Amino acid sequence: MTFQDLGIIDPILKALRAQGYEQPTPIQQQAIPKLLKGKDLLGCAQTGTGKTAAFSIPILQQMHLDQDWDRRRREIKCLIVAPTRELAIQIDESISAYGQFLDLRNTVIFGGVKQGAQTRALKKGIDILTATPGRLLDLMGQGYISLKHVQFAVLDEADHMLDMGFIHDIKKVVKQLPAKRQSLFFSATMSPEILKLSSGILGHPERITIKPEQATADRVEQNVYFVTKNDKRKLLVHLLKENEVDSALVFSRTKHGANRIAKQLDKAGFNAAAIHGNKSQGARQKSLQQFKDGSLKVLVATDIAARGIDVDELSYVVNFDLPNVPETYVHRIGRTGRADASGIALSFCDTEERAYLKDIQKLIGQQIPVVKEHPFPDDGTTEAPREQSRQRSGNGGNNRNSRNNNNRRRRS
Ligand code: AMP
Repeated sequence: MTFQDLGIIDPILKALRAQGYEQPTPIQQQAIPKLLKGKDLLGCAQTGTGKTAAFSIPILQQMHLDQDWDRRRREIKCLIVAPTRELAIQIDESISAYGQFLDLRNTVIFGGVKQGAQTRALKKGIDILTATPGRLLDLMGQGYISLKHVQFAVLDEADHMLDMGFIHDIKKVVKQLPAKRQSLFFSATMSPEILKLSSGILGHPERITIKPEQATADRVEQNVYFVTKNDKRKLLVHLLKENEVDSALVFSRTKHGANRIAKQLDKAGFNAAAIHGNKSQGARQKSLQQFKDGSLKVLVATDIAARGIDVDELSYVVNFDLPNVPETYVHRIGRTGRADASGIALSFCDTEERAYLKDIQKLIGQQIPVVKEHPFPDDGTTEAPREQSRQRSGNGGNNRNSRNNNNRRRRS
């Protein structure tokens, strides 16, 4: 099946080709036709299944084809609520990509940063808004956002919303939505509480269930190393040498971290490069090509930059930093162990990341074996003071700021 078979219009097909998508994923095959008919949807699916495209493509298409609204007014027609800033940013970036040839404007708002750039974007007029619940209510309260014209409402990762205590915020938002709308509700799990919440939002929804990506986690050999932040780079060099690694994709949480790792690997004699949002498209493409043809052995990437990287025979994925969103872990390790190939995923975990490890193990339903025999073990009582103070003085926040700046740049 192709996207064309699903009745997707040319400007979106062109955008999907630009993303390198050849075929719709199972959730896209199931959801797109239903959503194009205007049905409500209750989707049991995790991030990593192609869920974002499954809901955003039909919404973009319907908005583009709808002749009944004045495009100059730019009132919010589509509201997407997601529990975390990372997910909200990812969704907004996907919408920018899929809608790049349409005359629709989108932005993302989330808490933890000053609101100025966000309110400026809103004042210019926005068709599609992705938001975390707290900042959404805050800016609604301040009069920057009206939901009066919303025709499409999406609640993503509803189970996380509940876990994070957002239920009252969600109910407040839903009360402000017009009665006549198409509603979509996604959750990785369907507890009675979730179903109750969904029934207050959806009309008579179509229901789809996509098996979680656990299969991926089962196929990949996984190990975790307890190590201090300071020792991670030395451990990486050691493991790459010891295992005579042919090709490894190393994930770093921050762009600066990615640069530092690549530099260190270069010094140690590995052919390595970093790709992230601060690199030009050309530089990213070049590194990716070299990685694919084998001339570059190690690619260090941030999650956003690594989206869409598809390399056959990738033998190792290294989680230099553990992701705080557990689905991201499944997503990352799914880069290796494609199809029948079995891959190896190594994760470095410092003291601060132990909570992330717990969440990951809960999601994949397995304990990741701990490798104790390595030259830089951390028993959990030591944390390198030098690195910590450096982080506090600004480095740790860099990613946050630069992401925010990216956002501003994209919107302006
Ligand atoms: P999501 O579940 O929305 O986070 O998507 C997971 C990943 O799959 C993202 O990196 C998307 O860019 C990618 N993706 C989504 N749909 C497709 C597709 N039809 N073909 C290839 N990659 C896709």
